[in-house]
Amino acid sequence: MNYYIKNATLVNEGQTFVASVFVSDGKITKIIREKEDGPSTGSGTFAPSTQVIDATDKYLIPGIIDEHVHFREPGLTHKADIYTESRAAVAGGVTSFMDMPNTMPQTTTQELLQQKFDLAAEKSLANYSFYLGATNDNLAEVVKTDPKRVCGIKLFMGSSTGNMLVDKNEVLVRLFRESPCLIAAHCEDEGIIHSNTVCSKDLASKGEVILDASIHPFIRTTEACYKSSFKAVDMAEKFGARLHVLHISTQKELSLFRNDIPLNDKKITAETCPHYLWFDNRDYEGKGFAIKCNPAIKSHRDKEALLQALHDGLIDTIGTDHAPHLLEEKMTDDYFTSKSGFPSIQHSLDIMVNLVDDLPLLVQLMCHNPAILYQIDRRGFIREGYHADLALVDMNASYMISNADEYSKCGWTPYDGIKTHSRVTHTFVNGNLVFENGLFHMENRGSRLCFNR
Ligand SMILES: [Zn+2]
Repeated sequence: MNYYIKNATLVNEGQTFVASVFVSDGKITKIIREKEDGPSTGSGTFAPSTQVIDATDKYLIPGIIDEHVHFREPGLTHKADIYTESRAAVAGGVTSFMDMPNTMPQTTTQELLQQKFDLAAEKSLANYSFYLGATNDNLAEVVKTDPKRVCGIKLFMGSSTGNMLVDKNEVLVRLFRESPCLIAAHCEDEGIIHSNTVCSKDLASKGEVILDASIHPFIRTTEACYKSSFKAVDMAEKFGARLHVLHISTQKELSLFRNDIPLNDKKITAETCPHYLWFDNRDYEGKGFAIKCNPAIKSHRDKEALLQALHDGLIDTIGTDHAPHLLEEKMTDDYFTSKSGFPSIQHSLDIMVNLVDDLPLLVQLMCHNPAILYQIDRRGFIREGYHADLALVDMNASYMISNADEYSKCGWTPYDGIKTHSRVTHTFVNGNLVFENGLFHMENRGSRLCFNR
């Protein structure tokens, strides 16, 4: 099928203008800018298989590239899998994702990594890549990673998940020296978290604190984030690694990043997530463990500083850290058994539109910058010859986010009840229309992302 997307308002590379876009054989073949004083000049004769989509009054953006998701497959498919979560992704205008290694088994060998790519080829509606997880003893696997075919190495410099914590200094040094591709790091200091945990348990036993959700940022503190992020940045500078620090949640960490050099030249970059911009510690009272995540959601001041950092260029990308759990795994009576993380990919754009009234900036942070930062081959921009990964957004349509409409397998969202200012109406992946006004076309599968490194 070929498409003629007519009279769309393109938001691309800092510009906003009315144009029509031709899509053929999976690629963007022509972009015709409309004259300001007249109707489409792009009309004419098309091949019989060309479908015309009238995009008048809608915004056409490059498909979102979500560099940070947990689709839970293999091993944790009672709460999510690559098919269900990629469906939630395309419903939110996300056309490519990069999935984290804390599945079961953990993705810490090249063989296990390949098994994930095979699963995605069979099941994913969106384009995909997978991180290899670093451990204290898998450097031999890390160095075998093909930088042209794999998005990066995931490093837990904290204790978030399983046994993927890398805490031996000599291993960290070698990793930062020898990693063949980008290191994406979860930074929280294990020692600080541990001592805060011991202290909190002690105070709780004396009845001096209650271990409800609001304790989370007092256990996973700003200091825990800063100390670990500082160490990662310091080592990356020393050993010349390409480091991307994930899910920045504090104002203090912003001092570790630069905005005086172009993204292309940066070797140390930063991500934040919609939930650190939308929620703050006052929301624990109403939302409880539903918004427990690692790193913890922090103060109102942190939230405001992070929002400002989007404009200042200190934060380079927005990834969702989409991390589904069943609601009953979250809403336990016990702080320590309640799982951290929640789904978010379906609503990331709409939540960001609610927060930031600047679609070109959001396109830069969610589409262009991930493509630049990971050096993704011909995606993330609306350019002739590029893969036709596109989303149409209606900025006059609002809707109420609801658990009932959640496509994630876990069937709930922390954003339930929030009214949006926008709605994704169409999503194209590799020139295939996969999502159209609430309906999915599921016959095509996404592609493996390639990288120009
Ligand atoms: Zn994560």
